[in-house]
Amino acid sequence: MKHPKEEELIAYHDGEDAGREGVAAHVADCPECRDELERIDALLAALNAIPVPEPGEDYGQRVWQQISPRLPEKRARWWDFLLSQPKPISWLEPRRWVAVGAVAALVLAAFIAGRLSKQVVPASPMAAADTSKVRERVLRERKTSQHFQRAAPRRRLARRKPPLPANGDGAR
Ligand SMILES: [Zn+2]
Repeated sequence: MKHPKEEELIAYHDGEDAGREGVAAHVADCPECRDELERIDALLAALNAIPVPEPGEDYGQRVWQQISPRLPEKRARWWDFLLSQPKPISWLEPRRWVAVGAVAALVLAAFIAGRLSKQVVPASPMAAADTSKVRERVLRERKTSQHFQRAAPRRRLARRKPPLPANGDGAR
């Protein structure tokens, strides 16, 4: 019988369905592969037990130094300027730049949105029809909300009505 490959034993260990029955049947009959599977179990258990080390204070700086040369030339100068500062760069610095990028994206989105909404305004017959439809709807909604605003105090008063006196002469 052909022994399963190490990858197949690891997949079996991980509980993967593919080829599971074949491996299980083989392992039941093959002491060699049973030992191998036990070894894999023990190894992976030991790996999982190792605590993940803290990245350390200069982790951000080290990562940055590794990736900054790969950035385009123009930007790299900016990163170099940041990195050449005497004090070590904290975790915050790259994040700050991410924030700057996010704000720039928002500004750009607002700019594009502004342009698009301007483009809609020109009075093509379609746009005009849409505008009047929208106005109609806004008016209708305003009427509805006015109705509710008028109705609301009444309802509030009704709720605030004191309980009927016990002798019953307050009956409506
Ligand atoms: Zn085997």
